[in-house]
Order: sequence, then C-alpha cells, then structure tokens
Amino acid sequence: MEGLEKAIEQIKENIPKLDLRENEPMRNHCSFKVGGAVRAFAVPGDLFEMSKVMFYLHMNGVSPLTLGKCTNVIFPEEGLDIMVISTENLRKLRLGETENTIYAEAGVSLAKLAQFARDNGLSGLEFASGIPGSVGGGVLMNAGAYGGEMKDVVESVVVYYVPTQALTEVKGSDCGFEYRRSAFEKINCAIMGAVFKLTPDDPEAIGARMKEMNAKRTASQPLDMPSAGSAFKRPVGGYAAALIDRCGLKGYTVGGAQISQKHAGFAVNTGSATYDDVVELLDHVRREVYAQTQITLEPEIRIYPKGMMLVDDWRERKQTIIDGMLEQAKQNAADSAAESRDVRPS
Ligand SMILES: Cc1cc2nc3c(=O)[nH]c(=O)nc-3n(C[C@H](O)[C@H](O)[C@H](O)COP(=O)(O)OP(=O)(O)OC[C@H]3O[C@@H](n4cnc5c(N)ncnc54)[C@H](O)[C@@H]3O)c2cc1C
Repeated sequence: MEGLEKAIEQIKENIPKLDLRENEPMRNHCSFKVGGAVRAFAVPGDLFEMSKVMFYLHMNGVSPLTLGKCTNVIFPEEGLDIMVISTENLRKLRLGETENTIYAEAGVSLAKLAQFARDNGLSGLEFASGIPGSVGGGVLMNAGAYGGEMKDVVESVVVYYVPTQALTEVKGSDCGFEYRRSAFEKINCAIMGAVFKLTPDDPEAIGARMKEMNAKRTASQPLDMPSAGSAFKRPVGGYAAALIDRCGLKGYTVGGAQISQKHAGFAVNTGSATYDDVVELLDHVRREVYAQTQITLEPEIRIYPKGMMLVDDWRERKQTIIDGMLEQAKQNAADSAAESRDVRPS
C-alpha cells in the first residue's frame, strides 16, 4: 500500500527513536497465538509520540489499528498490509484530580488498574482484575465480568480524534456503552486513557472480592490454554456457552482450534491452530447452534479479514464536501440569476 510505505518512511525519518518493527508476526502478541505478520508494528513511548505516528499515517491516507494486550483479536496467517499501534508502553497510572478517581493510560493492564484501585481503598474495578486486557481495549468493548462492566466506572475517556488531530475528553455518559460495545468502535479515534470514578472501601474487603472472582474464573475457564476469551457475545436471554454445550459442541475440533472441554464459551488453541481453523470452527458452531435453536450467535472475538486494508479517506471525503459546496454555490447563483430575470419589470 503506497500511502503506508510513505508513512513508514516519514515516521522513520521524523520519529527516529520510535520502536517501529517491520513485518512483525502477530502470533507473538495475540493471546490465541496465531497470526502472520503486519507490515509495521509501532510501540510509541508516550502519548506525544503516539499522536505523531497517527499524524503521519493520517497525512498519507492510512488508518492504524490500535491494539492493547491483543487478547480479543485474531489475524490471518498471510499477514496484513497495515500498521498496528501498540499501547503497551502507555502505562501511566495515578490517582485522579478529583476525589475517588483514578487516571490510567490506555496500555495499563486491567489487572494492574484493579490492584491500584484496591491499594488505594477504591472499589468498583474488582470485576476487571481477572480480565487480561488493557484499559484501551476494555473501554472500547465495554469489558465486563461478574455483574460489573467498564460503563459503571468510566467517568471520562481521553481520545485522539483523527479527523481533527486533537485530544478530546469524552464523558462516560457520551461513550455509547452497550453490552460489549462502545461508540469508539465507529469513530476514527484512539483511546489514550480514561478516568475511573470509584467508591471508597476497605482494601481488604476489595481484595477478598477480587480473590473470590478470580477463583471462580480459574475454576471455570481454560486459562492454561491460549484463547481470546469468550468466542461469542451473550445472546438475548441466554448464555452462548450453555447453548453451545446443549448443541453437543463442547470439544468440537477443527485442526488445532477447539471448543474448550472446560468452558464451551471459549475457543482454545490446542497447539497448532491456524486462522482458518478458528474461522471454520466458529462458523460451524454458529451454523449448528442456529440449526438447533434458531438463535444467531454474534462473535465477540475480532477476526480480521484476509487482505484487510485500513484507509483514512479524509482527502476524498473533504473533496466530496468541497465539490458538493461548489455545486450548491453554482446552483444558488443560477437560481438567483433566474429569480432576478423573473422579477425584472417588462
Ligand atoms: C482468558 C481470557 C479471559 C477473558 N475474560 C474476559 C471477561 O471476563 N470479560 C470481557 O469483557 N473480556 C474478556 N476477555 C477478552 C479481552 O481480554 C477483553 O475484551 C479486553 O478488554 C480486550 O483488551 P485488549 O487490550 O486485549 O484489546 P485488544 O485485543 O488489543 O483489542 C481489542 C479491540 O479493542 C481495540 N483497541 C484496543 N486498544 C485500543 C485503544 N487504545 N484505542 C482504540 N481501540 C483500541 C482494538 O482495535 C480491537 O478492536 C478475556 C480474554 C481472555 C484471553
């Protein structure tokens, strides 16, 4: 992709200290341990460096794929001609400016965030302590567990809004949070950090709740095998795992990808899974569950399509708007010329 190659050259020249890896295999990063190389993998050291990377991509008509801990994503074996921006070095974590709040940058792990809250006697993030993702990924998909979700605790989110190349703070109530969704999925932006509003409580009591939730998690989930968490979202009025189990699909295997024997909601990598195995496995499960129950399961894991390109078509969109305005101006001029002809005294 020409724009991407130009952006890579400009980024190398103008941000020489950036950790920029070319042709980086995604299987080294993804919790499912599959996936070929992306053309470039940038790991900015701070928010400023990240903004600069996004600027050069934008100027060349390219959108990045921003990723956190890669615990919810699967990449094709053939690789993708895209640039990933990893937030793994955006790890600032501190008490917020207002009472009972915490500010965390996008790359902070949810486990660290929950522990920090506990150590500061702040309750509300216990549910997140066993989710292996980052603040950015957790906010983007409104991660949740054991009755809690990000929506309950996010006071505001700091985003880098690509069209204006500016940092903007979005109030929690404006984030469009729904079950495993947020408005950020549809907006051309990167989540840079978030402020969490919590409730004071005894650190020991908070710790005990975290321990209890994590014991439940260990007992029920296949944490000893590579996975990307729940393969499907919860359908209305039920649980994906229960449906899959009821349809006799526990242990169903395609190549190295398998519906976990321990928890039917998880797809696991038994060792040699490929992207195609995962796609075929999940496709089979969806079709079989639909055939037996007429319920359509929606994937929770993000499976990036082969050949995916991420284009930032702002130039074309801007030109379309300008063309539209010029056309409108011409039309207005023609209309008023016709009008003045009509009113001229004969
Ligand atoms: C064993 C296991 C257990 C899990 N348990 C749970 C659970 O209980 N509850 C739950 O909700 N999830 C669970 N998950 C799934 C996953 O951990 C969460 O969805 C997590 O929030 C994803 O965060 P991440 O940093 O890994 O995101 P990634 O996988 O890196 O990215 C996921 C999506 O978020 C986007 N994204 C990431 N960071 C940013 C950013 N800074 N700005 C903009 N977009 C961004 C990516 O582009 C992508 O679309 C589990 C996963 C595993 C492997």
